Amino acid sequence: MNDCLFCKIVKGEIPSKKIYEDESVYVFEDIAPTAPVHYLVIPKEHISKLDEVNASNSAVIAHIYEVIAQLAREKGLDDGFRVVSNCGESAGQSVFHIHFHLLAGRPLTWPAG
Ligand code: AMP
Repeated sequence: MNDCLFCKIVKGEIPSKKIYEDESVYVFEDIAPTAPVHYLVIPKEHISKLDEVNASNSAVIAHIYEVIAQLAREKGLDDGFRVVSNCGESAGQSVFHIHFHLLAGRPLTWPAG
C-alpha cells in the first residue's frame, strides 16, 4: 500500500522509535502516548483492519500475540497491560493498517469509552 502511513514506517520512509522487529512484525512507540508504555504492534504486511483477518493471514496475528507476551516479559509489565485493536472509524480506528496498542504503566479503567 503506497500511501499507508504504517507501511511507510515499516519501510523506514517515515521515522519511528523502534522497540522490536522480526521478519513479519514491527513494534514502535505511539507518537501520542496515552500511557507510560504505549507501543503499536503491527504486521509488516498490509492488512487494513481486524475484520480482514482470515485463514490465509491469521498466522501473523498469532505471532503478534507471541511478540506481545515476549515484550511484556522483557519490559517487566508485571502489573498488567492491555491490548487494543480498534476496528473501523466508529470504534476509533484512525490508521487503516491493522495495529495492536500495547498499553501499560498506569491503572487502566474498564469499561472502555
Ligand atoms: P487508532 O486510532 O487505533 O487507529 O491508532 C492509531 C495510532 O497511531 C494513534 O494512537 C496515533 O497516535 C498513532 N500514530 C499516528 N501517526 C503515528 C506516527 N507517525 N508514529 C507513531 N504513531 C503514530
